[in-house]
Amino acid sequence: MALSPEEKQARKRDRMIEKARELQIGSYARRFVAPVFQKMRRAEAAADPRPFATAVVNGEIAQVKREIGECVCVTCGRVAPWKGNSIGGGVIETGHFIASRRMSVLFVEEPTPNSFAQCKHCNQHLGGNQGCYELWMRCVYGQDEIDRLRRLKNETVQFTRETLVDMRLAYQVRLTAAINSMKEGE
Ligand SMILES: [Zn+2]
Repeated sequence: MALSPEEKQARKRDRMIEKARELQIGSYARRFVAPVFQKMRRAEAAADPRPFATAVVNGEIAQVKREIGECVCVTCGRVAPWKGNSIGGGVIETGHFIASRRMSVLFVEEPTPNSFAQCKHCNQHLGGNQGCYELWMRCVYGQDEIDRLRRLKNETVQFTRETLVDMRLAYQVRLTAAINSMKEGE
């Protein structure tokens, strides 16, 4: 008898949990969940229909013109397609304000996210461009939220493999939805 879509989905989830058991929880989160999360963050930013994005340009807050499908680096204002080529990645990455691999800040989105579109130059070569990132966070979310994220970094959050698999599946659904909404706009 053919499986229903729900049964298929449940089996897929079971297989993913089985695979996840082959790795330490932290390794699984970083290798299999974080990449989907980061791609989703960029895709959702790129799918945003607003024609301007707030960014720091030359050390000052500015409104930067963009189109659907493009991300704006929050710390320098560079505009580029959300998705790079498959070889060597793209110009735009997802940079964390609190640069930490700790679970408490790696995936946080509510009430204030800890990760935004950032160009490779700012994210990697400038080590996150911290001064500009802090200016941007203060202008967009306020000092209280910066303080809250900094406290969060020191909190211990531990996810189970089941939770991480569910997060990965949910991020994938949001990523697909963002990509589809960009295609509709073409
Ligand atoms: Zn940049």
